[in-house]
Amino acid sequence: MKPFENDLAERLAALREQNLLRQLRCVDSAQSPRIQIDGKWFQNFSSNDYLGLANHPALKEAAILAIETFGAGSGASRLICGSLAPIHQLETALARLKKTEAAIAFSSGYAAANGVIAAVLDKDDIIILDKLVHACIVDAAKLSGAKIRVFGHNDLGDLENKLKWAAQRTGPSISGTRRALVVTESIFSMDGDAAPLREIVALKEKYGAWLMVDEAHATGVLGGNGGGLIEELALSDRVEIQMATLGKALGAAGGCICGSRQLVDFLINRARPFIFSTAPVPAAAAAATEAIRLVQSPEGKELRRKLASNIASSQSALGHGESSSSSLAAPKPGGGGSSNGSPIIPIIFGDEQKALDAAARLREKNIFVPAIRYPSVARGSARLRITLTAAHSQEDIFCLVDALKKLDIGN
Ligand SMILES: *Cc1c(COP(=O)(O)O)cnc(C)c1O
Repeated sequence: MKPFENDLAERLAALREQNLLRQLRCVDSAQSPRIQIDGKWFQNFSSNDYLGLANHPALKEAAILAIETFGAGSGASRLICGSLAPIHQLETALARLKKTEAAIAFSSGYAAANGVIAAVLDKDDIIILDKLVHACIVDAAKLSGAKIRVFGHNDLGDLENKLKWAAQRTGPSISGTRRALVVTESIFSMDGDAAPLREIVALKEKYGAWLMVDEAHATGVLGGNGGGLIEELALSDRVEIQMATLGKALGAAGGCICGSRQLVDFLINRARPFIFSTAPVPAAAAAATEAIRLVQSPEGKELRRKLASNIASSQSALGHGESSSSSLAAPKPGGGGSSNGSPIIPIIFGDEQKALDAAARLREKNIFVPAIRYPSVARGSARLRITLTAAHSQEDIFCLVDALKKLDIGN
């Protein structure tokens, strides 16, 4: 066996060679449309803080008040040291937002996905995933031991094939009855396109499967009250498991599962990241609760209107939604391509180095946009991932569009 440090050095060198090495950049300011890195200010088009709540005075005040009342730490797992009131308030607010009987908070969305899937499924069961679901769902599926089937991204025909296959196998198994769970995102994290949820719901019902929808990027953003795509399509009583994160449009940190009282009771007993991990801190829970109040208020509606207007103006300037007359010379904006009101705009380069070069060129113009590479997206589909927020001004959007148009790729 090689010495440990030599082994790591070789593996890091291999990543560097493939243009896949990642490094942290220390930010010396709050997440907002401007961030400071190495003493220099950048326009920030990288965060998932879609409504600009991460640095909102009301969230900060709620967090401070929670710290003053309940302290900085949460002590232990909620089953061990008692369950702090701010988390109960958060769960009540979440269930109301998602129109479900109950909700349960986790310390992250990653933990929520992991907790629910591995608790609900076991090795005799079947899990059917959209090809582009988030890594936390893939990891959870593997952890559950269930048989994994993947359908083409948003491909209803392929989903139906997988459901037919599952339906033949979900009869009685050795250990009881097999289960089949379909999992998709509502707005996809790296492509920004939407799942055809109505059709997916109809299909899973036709074959008697269950459905989990990860609304990480739609919560706060879509729906009349910011409940997500499920709210917008009025599907909340037809989706067994709703998942969201508190760290994106809700401006705090944490994750949650929303659904029936029984689902939540079951997870309290069986979700390992809930049982074996320290509870979310009071500050994060209180900030998220305030964010939920805010997204349902007139201010929240106004923020969504502002976000939609920023999305529309950038999409029209970039030529999205038009068949051939892209005003962005090269490369073409990629992903789902349809203008669905998502704040995520991918510009796909394919080649890792080209995406990195484009991000570096934008940084020279004081614009911060991340180059997204494997393993966040498939190999050879490296991209710039631009995220818009309600906190960006029209002028910010013009600056971004101008810089993107001047990106002269290929030389
Ligand atoms: C960010 C994200 C998660 C994980 O949520 P965290 O709260 O950041 O752990 C889960 N699913 C999707 C689709 C995400 O984009």
